[in-house]
Amino acid sequence: MVDLKTPAEIEQMRAAGRVVANALAAVKKSAAAGVSLRELDEVARDVLRSAGAVSLFEGYQPGFATSPFSGVICTSVNDAVLHGLPTDLRLQDGDLLNVDCGASVDGWCADSAISFCVGTPRAEDLELIATTEEALAAGIAAAVEGNRIGDIGAAIGRVGKRAGLGTNLDFGGHGVGRRMHEEPHVPNGGRPGRGLRLRAGHVFAIEPWFWTGPGSTYVIDDDGWTLRSADHTRGAHAEHTVAITADGPRILTVP
Ligand code: MG
Ligand code: MG
Repeated sequence: MVDLKTPAEIEQMRAAGRVVANALAAVKKSAAAGVSLRELDEVARDVLRSAGAVSLFEGYQPGFATSPFSGVICTSVNDAVLHGLPTDLRLQDGDLLNVDCGASVDGWCADSAISFCVGTPRAEDLELIATTEEALAAGIAAAVEGNRIGDIGAAIGRVGKRAGLGTNLDFGGHGVGRRMHEEPHVPNGGRPGRGLRLRAGHVFAIEPWFWTGPGSTYVIDDDGWTLRSADHTRGAHAEHTVAITADGPRILTVP
């Protein structure tokens, strides 16, 4: 069942989205060589706390996880791309860091992720990040009334394929509302013109993730969470929570 949010509910999700965006911006500002992932988690934690927001990640334990998540952000470095646990690992110059954050305010959720380079970037990492952001923009542009869910996935997949990036469709976007993960699944690929017809009031997290490739398989670390490319190529992830409105897609996870 995919429910429609009222304009007032979307405003509440916008409030959560602002907090998430601020937390991600603070983490990006603090990320530097020598800083640990756990310290970055503290930075995000402070932003959530001072805004009266509740983490959606801490204590979360979906079916695939062997233990509850212990951070308020996912911090995935280099060949890790999703669900990275914030550990004592210290960032190094040239690392590619993927940060994901989810929070609720007054029971309404928002979910967003960014990828960026620490210190001196590698050209190929900048290109990977730019393409991932381009895929997110293409997915958002397809999130309009009258389109179908498959149009979002197809738009994302087209960008990744054109750039020759490694893709895996196991994880993707999702409905967002009172819970972080609601129906429907929003795929990062597939054929256009299929699936749920989009209506004003739908709110989705759209979240492409790619590897420099060519591999498309992953391994999970012993921590039960951190998802890493099997061939150790680097990955990037970009995510926004987006409301479909009569005036077009509205990104909720901006400052
Ligand atoms: Mg997320
Ligand atoms: Mg998400």
